[in-house]
Amino acid sequence: MSAHAFDVGGGEHCPFMPVFGPPARMIVRGSGTEVWDSEGRRLLDFLSGIAVVSLGHANERVAQAISDQARTLVHVSNFFANPVATSAAQQIDALLAEATGQHGQIFFTNSGAEANECAIKLARRHGGRGRHTVVSALGSFHGRTLATLAATGQPSKHEPFQPMPEGFRHVAWGDLDAMTAAVDASVAAVLIESIQGEGGVQPAPVGYLEGIRALCDATGALMIVDEVQTGFARTGRWFGFEHAGVSPDVVTMAKGMGNGMPVGACWAPNSIARSFSPGDHGSTFSGTALATSAVLAVIEEMTRLDAPALAVAGGERIRQALADRPGIDGVRGSGLLLGVELASGVVAADVAAGCLESGLIVNAVNASTIRLAPPLTVSEAEIDEAAEILSGVVSRLVSEGTSDE
Ligand SMILES: *Cc1c(COP(=O)(O)O)cnc(C)c1O
Repeated sequence: MSAHAFDVGGGEHCPFMPVFGPPARMIVRGSGTEVWDSEGRRLLDFLSGIAVVSLGHANERVAQAISDQARTLVHVSNFFANPVATSAAQQIDALLAEATGQHGQIFFTNSGAEANECAIKLARRHGGRGRHTVVSALGSFHGRTLATLAATGQPSKHEPFQPMPEGFRHVAWGDLDAMTAAVDASVAAVLIESIQGEGGVQPAPVGYLEGIRALCDATGALMIVDEVQTGFARTGRWFGFEHAGVSPDVVTMAKGMGNGMPVGACWAPNSIARSFSPGDHGSTFSGTALATSAVLAVIEEMTRLDAPALAVAGGERIRQALADRPGIDGVRGSGLLLGVELASGVVAADVAAGCLESGLIVNAVNASTIRLAPPLTVSEAEIDEAAEILSGVVSRLVSEGTSDE
C-alpha cells in the first residue's frame, strides 16, 4: 500500500463527511475509458463517474476549452452577460427545439438537483397559489436538496429528514391509471424520468410518457422530464424522451453535459419560462463562462462524433457480448445506459466488487442489477474486455453459489 496524504477509509481522520461509504480506490488519473489508481493499477471505467464523463476522461477538446477559458474569463456574476454561456444556452435550445418543435429559455445550474429545484419552482410559479403539487414516481431519483429529495420516490431516504417540504405526491412507476388518479386540480406538474437511472435502470413502459403527455394536456399540469442522467446522447438520442416522441414542457439536464465540469440546466419554452420574473430564482454560479465552456465543447464534440449513434452501437455490442451468459438474465435500458439483470442468487454488490478486483468499474445499482454507463467513446475492444471480465466474475459467482448448495 502506498501512503496516502490522508485517510480515505471513512474513519475519523477522513476529511469528508461520512455520507458516502468508504471509497473503493484512490483514482489519480484518467484517459478515455481508462483510469489509474494510486497504486498504478489500470481500471476500465464502465460507470463514467455515474454517466458524467461521456466523452471519456481527460478529453482533449474539453480540456483545451476549459484551460483556454480559465485564462480568458472564469466568472462575472449575472449582472453581466458572457458570450460563452449565451452561446451554450442557444445551442442547448437548438437541440431542444429540434426535439420538441419549440424554442425556449435556459437557467444554468451547478448540479442536477438544482436543475430540478428550478423546474419545481417554475412549475409552482406557473401554476399559481393552490396549484403547487408535484407528482413523481416511486423508485425515481431527483436529487438530494430538500425539495428534490421530497420529489424523489424513495420513502426510506425521506425518513431521517422528516418533515419533508409539502406538496409532493408519489405514484407507482409505469402505472398510468395511478398517475391519472393523482393529477387533480392542485397539481402543478408531473416530474418523471425517461429511464429511471438510480431506480435500477428501468425504462418507461411503452406508452407511459405519451400517456403522461396527454394527461398533462388535459389537466394543464406541466410535464417535466428529468433528463439529468439520460440526456446528452446517453440513451442513443440527445434526450431520452425523444424515444417516445413526446414534447415535455420543462426539461432538466446535468450529468453528461460538462464531461465532469459541475453544470446543469433547466429548459422551458418561452411561454412557460416567462412565468418567472426577475428575483424569483438565481444562483451566484449560474452560467459561469468556465462551466459553460465545457458545455460548448461537449456539444461540439458530441455532434462531431455523432454521440447518439455511438451510444446505440456501443449498447448493441454490449448486449450481444452479454447474451446467453450464465448468471445473466437480461440487459435492459437504452444506448449506453444499461442494467444487467443478474440471475437470482447472484448478488450485484459481489459482482461489482469482483469486477473491481479484476480491473473493471461497474455499479451495483440495486441488489440484482449491475449498471453499465461507459463513456460513449468506448472502443469495441474495451467493450469486449469488459464483457469478458463481467461475465467471468458472474459465472464464477454462479459456480461458487451452486457448489455451496
Ligand atoms: C443524478 C441525478 C440527479 C441529481 O443530480 P446531482 O447533480 O447529483 O444533484 C437528479 N435526477 C436524476 C435522474 C439523476 O440521475
